[in-house]
Amino acid sequence: MAVIYKRVALIGLGLIASSMALAMRAGGLAGEITGHAKSAETRDVALEIGLCDRVFATAAEAVEGADLVVLAVPVGAMGALAREIGPHLAPGATVTDVGSVKQAVIDAVAPHLPPGVAFVPGHPLAGTEYSGPRSGFATLFRNRWCLLTPTESSPPDAVARLRALWEAMGSNVDEMDAAHHDLVLAVVSHTPHLIAYTMVGVADHLAQVSNSEVIKYSASGFRDFTRIAASDPTMWRDVFLTNRDATLDVLGRFTEELFALQRAIRLGDGDHLHAYFTRTRAIRRGIIEAGQDTAAPDFGRGADAKGPAAARAG
Ligand code: NAP
Repeated sequence: MAVIYKRVALIGLGLIASSMALAMRAGGLAGEITGHAKSAETRDVALEIGLCDRVFATAAEAVEGADLVVLAVPVGAMGALAREIGPHLAPGATVTDVGSVKQAVIDAVAPHLPPGVAFVPGHPLAGTEYSGPRSGFATLFRNRWCLLTPTESSPPDAVARLRALWEAMGSNVDEMDAAHHDLVLAVVSHTPHLIAYTMVGVADHLAQVSNSEVIKYSASGFRDFTRIAASDPTMWRDVFLTNRDATLDVLGRFTEELFALQRAIRLGDGDHLHAYFTRTRAIRRGIIEAGQDTAAPDFGRGADAKGPAAARAG
């Protein structure tokens, strides 16, 4: 494949950025990859395992001369980094991000970007519960959606070029506005994470089923909750702080449905429960038919939980 960007600067070198670096290298999509992360340790690892050609102690240095800058840090860190890199961006460069929330990122980043620099926010719906520069793999984005949420001032040619990059890394790309993105993600990712965190927290509080029994018998649903609840605390703290309204809206609906099911159980209303579970089963079938998961009993997880089978939306 042909080079799409001559120099890509990755700001943040964790799961998403390292997967992008490996996917870009595998496809020959970037001429050069520069990088910056907060800690010297992460920067050293990124050089050692070949994610970046050069790493820099500051984000400002890393973006010099880049035609694509990717903000791949927790959502709450993006505004300060945008302020730092703004004066150092090359005219004609595109800035994008991979944050799990979009409106808050646009509000925090856009004011710091100079005229002549394109901003095209994005979010790959792919991830695992692992973090850091060693957690990435080149196929993370394959057959996963990447949502771009261009603003009114995103130039169409910059959007098209970024779309081409994500497609070349294996993603399917859709465009939508940021507010819609944040509501959709509150339903499909953010609220489910909160429920998983809660369920694991509840089990932890129930002393009589905790520790050995939770681990010993967690072959079914609970094991998947624990996997989700092992996700990076900083990332998820920022997701809930910045997608507050949509998450609270969906949580409100969730609570109503939960009360309805609770009531059905108390009243012995089997018809209600059966009808509800029939409807939810159809949703699961739809996800499998859309190729977004496998019907295998172990969810295709296999031995290597780091691999593509573990991939999920973040
Ligand atoms: P990660 O593996 O935890 O890595 C985060 C990276 O950001 C690390 O390299 C960290 O550096 C760096 N960083 C944090 N604060 C920084 C700062 N102030 N200045 C410079 N570097 C900083 O995170 P990730 O999973 O790749 O997530 C990155 C972004 O992608 C987040 O916005 C997240 O919402 C989004 N996202 C995540 C997933 C997922 O499932 N994980 C999926 C889709 C989108 P150090 O290592 O030196 O601390």
